Amino acid sequence: MRVESVRGMRDILPEEAWVWQAVEEMLRQVFALYGYEEIRLPVVERAELFSRGVGETTEVVHKEMYVFPDRKGLELALRPEATASVVRAYLEHGLYAKGGVTKLYYLGPMFRYEKPQMGRQRQFHQYGVEALGSLDPALDAEVMALAWHLMEALELRGEHLLFRVNSIGCREDRPKYREALRSYFAPHAAGLCPDCQRRLEENPLRILDCKEPACRELAGAAPRATDHLCPGCKEHFGQVLSFLDALGLVYVEDPTLVRGLDYYTRTVFELASRELGAQDALLGGGRYDDLAELLGGAPTPGVGFAGGMERLILVLTGQGVGAQERPLLDVYVVPIGGEAKRPAVELLTRLRKAGLAADMDYVGRSLRKMMEIAGKRARYALILGPDELVRDQATVKNLATGESQTFSLAEVPERLRGLAERSC
Ligand code: AMP
Repeated sequence: MRVESVRGMRDILPEEAWVWQAVEEMLRQVFALYGYEEIRLPVVERAELFSRGVGETTEVVHKEMYVFPDRKGLELALRPEATASVVRAYLEHGLYAKGGVTKLYYLGPMFRYEKPQMGRQRQFHQYGVEALGSLDPALDAEVMALAWHLMEALELRGEHLLFRVNSIGCREDRPKYREALRSYFAPHAAGLCPDCQRRLEENPLRILDCKEPACRELAGAAPRATDHLCPGCKEHFGQVLSFLDALGLVYVEDPTLVRGLDYYTRTVFELASRELGAQDALLGGGRYDDLAELLGGAPTPGVGFAGGMERLILVLTGQGVGAQERPLLDVYVVPIGGEAKRPAVELLTRLRKAGLAADMDYVGRSLRKMMEIAGKRARYALILGPDELVRDQATVKNLATGESQTFSLAEVPERLRGLAERSC
C-alpha cells in the first residue's frame, strides 16, 4: 500500500507555493515598516509551556495539542501557537535588557488536532507579531493598524473586512466577570451543550466562544466584560478605541469576543472576512500582560496577533488576487540532436551565472515537445540546431510574440539579459 500524508496535514505544491512566497515577502516588508524583526522558533517545546501559558482548560491545550514523550520521558508538544514561545525566548535570552519595546514577527507551521475542514487544518501556518514591553494603548491600536496595512498591501478588498474588538479586563476583573457569567448561565445550564456544561464550572468565558447555536443564542444576552472592567482597564479600552478612530480603522465592539487562549488580558480583537463563512477569522490577537509572569519571568506587558496563512491565501485567490501568471523561467534551452547537447549544457551554466533562470530537457523529448514545454515554462526558447552550431550561433525565440533573433553563442547571455530586462 502506498504511504500517504497525514489527515489534516497537506502538501503545498509548486503551483501554490509561489503564491505563498509572494505573500510571505509582502508580509515581511510590512512587518519591517513597523519596526518588527524576525524570530525563528523551534516547532517542538516543552508541553508545560502551553499548559501554563495558553491554559489547561482551553480547547487548544485540553483537546487539540499533540503531546508526546521524548526518549527520556520529557513531555513535549508540537507548538499549537507561537506567542508562548516568543515570550519564552524573550525571557530566556534576556531580550528585555535592551529596554523599550521589543517587536518580533514569525512565520511558520502550527499544529492542532482539530476536525479538518475548509480553512482548518491540523498542520497550518501562521504569521504573527508580538510587541513586548509597553502598556500603551496606542501600541494596541498600532498592532491593529499593522494588520490592516497587511491586508491593504495584499490588495484584499476592505469592504469585506471588519475588526471585532472587545476588552476582557485584567486579572482583578476576571473573577468578578466569571461569577457574573456563572450566575447568568447557571439557570440555563440544561440548554447548554455538554462541553459548555463543563465550561460553566471550569471557565465560563469559554462558553462565549462556543459555536453551538443554542449556546450562541444564550451568549448573545450574557453579561458583558466591558461592564466589569476596573477603572484602569476601562480607561485603557476607551483610549484604544479613540486611537482606532484616529487611525480611521473600521471596527465593531463585540461583547462576546473572548478568544480561545487564556493568556489574553484587556484588548482582544479579530479581523474577519465575510468571504470565509463559518471560519471567518483571518487573524486574531490582543494583549497578554500576565503571560511573562505565568512563564516564570518578570511582569512584561505584550500585545500581538496571529493570522492563518491558509485562510489568507483562500481569500486572496477567491478575490482573484495572485491569479497573475506564475513566474516563468527566462530561458528554455532547446538543443536539436546529440551534437548540440554539450554546447547546450555549457550555455545553461553561462546563462545561470548571468542571473537568468534557465532550464532544458533531460528526458529526450522531441523538438516539438521541447518547444511545447518552453511555451508553458519560459519567456524565451534558445534553439541550438545544426545550422546555428556551424556558425557558433543560437536562435532566441520570444515565446509571447513568436519573434526570433540570432546571436553569437559568446554574446547570448548578455543579449538575453537585455531582452529579459526590457520586457519585464
Ligand atoms: P489563534 O491562534 O487560535 O488565535 O488563531 C489565529 C488565526 O490562526 C486564526 O484567526 C486563523 O486564521 C488561524 N488558524 C487557527 N487555527 C487554524 C487551523 N486549525 N487551520 C487553519 N488556520 C487556523
